[in-house]
Amino acid sequence: MLAVKLTDYYRSLIDWSDPADPLARMTQFSTAEYSETAEDCPDSADVHLAEHRISRVLLHRYPDRALLLTTSRCAAHCRYCFRKARIEQREPDISDTELADAVAYIAARPLIREIILSGGDPLALDNARLLEIIRAFRRIPHLDSVRLHTRFPVYQPARCDGMAEIAAQIDVLIVQVNHAREVTPRFMDAMARLRPFVLLYNQSVLLRGVNDSVAALSDLSWALARAGITPCYLHYPDLVPGTAHFRLPLDQAIALAGALRGQLPGYLVPRLMLDIPGGYGKIALEAPACQRIDRQTFLLRSPLTGEAIEYRDAEPA
Ligand code: SF4
Repeated sequence: MLAVKLTDYYRSLIDWSDPADPLARMTQFSTAEYSETAEDCPDSADVHLAEHRISRVLLHRYPDRALLLTTSRCAAHCRYCFRKARIEQREPDISDTELADAVAYIAARPLIREIILSGGDPLALDNARLLEIIRAFRRIPHLDSVRLHTRFPVYQPARCDGMAEIAAQIDVLIVQVNHAREVTPRFMDAMARLRPFVLLYNQSVLLRGVNDSVAALSDLSWALARAGITPCYLHYPDLVPGTAHFRLPLDQAIALAGALRGQLPGYLVPRLMLDIPGGYGKIALEAPACQRIDRQTFLLRSPLTGEAIEYRDAEPA
């Protein structure tokens, strides 16, 4: 099992006297991780990605963007992580040859407008290596955007010190904040230093016991607004084994997202997204892409193939 020591900074945010503390729930091991459910998809992440995998580090799933897995290292081990298997296998960082091959692949495909730097967490790399990677893609004339996904600033805001040069070379920074208490003064300082250079968005994961209420999600959106970050997506968790205790029934998740619309200004309402199991792509859980058949059954329209995929939710507990 992977052991990434939680930063002292994040440990100081946890209320250790509260057995249900949401920040502890995201980061501390629970025996619920041993439980299996009928819906679990053992290789969920790989099934999603296998047919779109160009190399160990490059995924090309949508026509206009590609995803680069720069490292499998992270600032912490999020217990709900959908890349659990890859992170726990500790795959090596991207090599020079793999980077050159990825750049050549994208340079040869003018339809690709954006490269997404992901992981693990790209900010686990040092600034010099990150700049090499970013500059290699910046030399491709048809690439409009370099986007970077990270949760590092939540676990260790000091990682953003001295990052202005990187922020100036990328177009979009998407952080992953899941709870309002993660938006601390230290985190806000870090974001304030990056904001002059790059567009800041947030994508959260909808997690039972962490942010599964209108109040928690409203507080999160307002906290992000104070930090100058636009809430963008709220991801329904993938069906990764050992993470069922983090999942809400899909109909409850949809109702929650609907209730948020009445509580927040439109620009602070994140879109509830689901990655359709089997590699059919991500959709917003809204009509017309998502049609409810009955309480547990949904028809989801693949954005990649146009097929209608039946999605059966878990039996109610
Ligand atoms: S930072 Fe992201 S990739 Fe890393 S463990 Fe957390 S959710 Fe997974």
